[in-house]
Amino acid sequence: MTTIFGKIIAGEIPAEKVYEDDRILAIKDINPKAPVHILIIPKKEIPDIQSVTEEDLPLIGEVIQVAQKLAKENDILEGYRLLVNNGPLAGQSIFHLHFHLIGGSKLGPIA
Ligand code: 5GP
Repeated sequence: MTTIFGKIIAGEIPAEKVYEDDRILAIKDINPKAPVHILIIPKKEIPDIQSVTEEDLPLIGEVIQVAQKLAKENDILEGYRLLVNNGPLAGQSIFHLHFHLIGGSKLGPIA
């Protein structure tokens, strides 16, 4: 099922884009938890980490490359998090796989 991220990827809903290629879109989070809070979203509609297949693994590698580039561009190499909330109990609210790139201040404990 298409989520809000599917609609953003399709250009039906606006978002502040910080990176885009034919497989990946990165946008600023609408409700940032830190000075830098970017969502790196594979355009393929994969619902969550558990749904990632072997054929998707190169795409996940590309997500990491985009995270490295955006971390450098945003000057957060001293410390950042790249995280996925997987499933409702972990706080996942949008079921289109996305990676949070968070940094720009001292980050608190994870859980
Ligand atoms: P999740 O809770 O699924 O791990 O993360 C969803 C993230 O998407 C949240 O951090 C939330 O602030 C962000 N978000 C929800 N709706 C929108 C939107 O319409 N635009 C943008 N840019 N971010 C959104």
